[in-house]
Amino acid sequence: MKKLETLCVHPTGEKDQFKGSVTAAIFPSAAYNYLDQEELQYPGFYSTYNQKRLGQIMAELEHGNWGMVFSSGMAAISTAILSFAQLHDHVIFSRDLYGGTWKFAEQELPKRGISCSYADNTLAGFQAALKPHTRVIYIETPANPLLNIVPLREIAEFAKKNGIVTIVDNTFASPVNQLPLLHAIDIVIHSGTKYLGGHNDLPFGALVSSNPEHREPVFSTAKLYGGSLSPYQCYLVERSLKTLAIRVKRQNENAMKLAEYLSGHAAVNRVYYPGLTSHPDHRIALQQMMGFGGILSFELHVNPEKLILFQKRLAIIQPALSLGGVESLICSPVATSHRSLSAEQRHQLGIQDNLLRLSVGIEDGDDLIADLHSAIAAIT
Ligand SMILES: *Cc1c(COP(=O)(O)O)cnc(C)c1O
Repeated sequence: MKKLETLCVHPTGEKDQFKGSVTAAIFPSAAYNYLDQEELQYPGFYSTYNQKRLGQIMAELEHGNWGMVFSSGMAAISTAILSFAQLHDHVIFSRDLYGGTWKFAEQELPKRGISCSYADNTLAGFQAALKPHTRVIYIETPANPLLNIVPLREIAEFAKKNGIVTIVDNTFASPVNQLPLLHAIDIVIHSGTKYLGGHNDLPFGALVSSNPEHREPVFSTAKLYGGSLSPYQCYLVERSLKTLAIRVKRQNENAMKLAEYLSGHAAVNRVYYPGLTSHPDHRIALQQMMGFGGILSFELHVNPEKLILFQKRLAIIQPALSLGGVESLICSPVATSHRSLSAEQRHQLGIQDNLLRLSVGIEDGDDLIADLHSAIAAIT
């Protein structure tokens, strides 16, 4: 079995190399000879070769049976859920969700007669939310922005006993740090826009399943909702994936370094990073993750009005949404991702007004520390 770094550079799809080329070929054709039976295996999408190849690479990276790619993370998420939940069915979501997924659950699923519950991030929470018509359990771990961890194996086993399909959003971890399918989860989805693309310039989504029988329902849903990825984008993704392991390992290292630095800073109230023993879910993270990721959050011990000034004083770290790319980005969840929640709802989720989320890039760790250091000094 190839090790991860090797797999990223030399995925199995490579055996399709065209005319001896070292890198992948792009086949933009939107029409294929219908007498060629093989091409009919991938129905419903115009360009087949690059998508199919990238789906196989994703399946290999996630240790799944088959994979598929989409034009965005949300296309993968909506397809995954709608493939397994129908009229009168019930879906249990983990409590801390990406905003788009939460809105999809609140606005779109009820229109289709599908009801939703939100569970605490524990087995007991999911057990309490179970209904006779529960068909899908959807988990996000680590979750935004406090990096809460949901225990995968015990919830997967509980779901299997009850005939429920489990879906995990593995965006924050990437396959470098977490392989949910090896913890008995059925389906992994990604916003590839984050770590997989890795350069803050390449929106796409991916879905990988461990079960060959999931292929048909997912393909037929995907076909009707139409979120296909162009062959040119597929090529760029494949190129980005070659450096996935090396990027994410550097991001893990940098994030740990910054988490430790911030934990020791007098102007910081609290740091949330699953790699720190002070994180409430550190033990679960150790059990199911190979690395702790490049995202951390912290509360600055300043008046929340000063948060904007702090972000303006940063020279390397840029105030921007999104995460997982080579550039370090920072944002205030209260002003961005969690803006639409009431103060009361944020309070329930444990999100303080002075919280900042930092997505650590691949810059030099000491340069990033110096950047944080001088910006904090400027406002305190
Ligand atoms: C960004 C993100 C999504 C949505 O993905 P898009 O590619 O923006 O559609 C889903 N889940 C998580 C955890 C995300 O961070």
